[in-house]
Amino acid sequence: TVLVHWVPLRDGDGLQGAVAVFHDISAFKRVEKIRRDFVANVSHELRTPVTVIKGYAETLLSGALAADPERAERFLLIIQNHADRLSGLVRDLLTLSELESGEMGMQLKPVALDEAIRQALLLVGQRGEEKGVQLEQPAGEAGLTVQADRGRLEQVLINLLDNAIKYSETGKSVGVETAREGDLVRVSVRDSGIGIPEKDLPRLFERFYRVDEARSRDNGGTGLGLSIVKHIVQAHGGTLEVKSEQGKGSVFSFTLPIAR
Ligand code: ADP
Repeated sequence: TVLVHWVPLRDGDGLQGAVAVFHDISAFKRVEKIRRDFVANVSHELRTPVTVIKGYAETLLSGALAADPERAERFLLIIQNHADRLSGLVRDLLTLSELESGEMGMQLKPVALDEAIRQALLLVGQRGEEKGVQLEQPAGEAGLTVQADRGRLEQVLINLLDNAIKYSETGKSVGVETAREGDLVRVSVRDSGIGIPEKDLPRLFERFYRVDEARSRDNGGTGLGLSIVKHIVQAHGGTLEVKSEQGKGSVFSFTLPIAR
């Protein structure tokens, strides 16, 4: 799209001519469309749990609570589940907006990678146990130090490990591997879960993009985890990659600069 803007040229005697200025506004329009889609997506994502909570609360208030305590408890659990989803969504939206506005300045310092991985594995340990997915001991090169914001790095690891557990069946295992590549360190999170169809891979890191919406929701997903991961990795000057085969599993890997 081109916007034409005529600028008149004058001198003391009056109008002498005009210059046409062509502005290419397609980039502007694209950003505007992304912003509009995002607002529409957020509204949609917020509306679903709010509608459910309101509906069940009304049913309880109009008699279900007294008439059938067992049914009432089921309704309350549904309300709790959707309230949890709402708070997860708000938490992820706040994280994204902090990252995008650059408000949460990264505190880049030398971080012992093994420590960060151990901490992340500890934090997702319970989820793995509940699901019956085994978390393997970290593999690869030990003792590496990266230049990173420790909290944000752990968040990346937790999000990737959490997904690896979420999208694996019971009995499967999940592993983390580290390798040095010149001035960079590559960290890979591998699962043998459901995998991702090739056609979905290019859009996977977009906000709210999900391969299977119902499955993501049932697992308490917000569809924002990977876009948060991508943001954080890029803010460290690293890159994020995914390799996956449907039915076989996925490997999400990212690079970070090594600390000197
Ligand atoms: P969600 O909250 O839905 O998990 P994410 O942004 O973390 O959102 O991931 C986006 C989508 O990518 C998920 O909905 C899922 O379809 C897919 N995905 C992410 N990680 C994996 C994985 N390890 N295995 C299979 N699919 C995955």
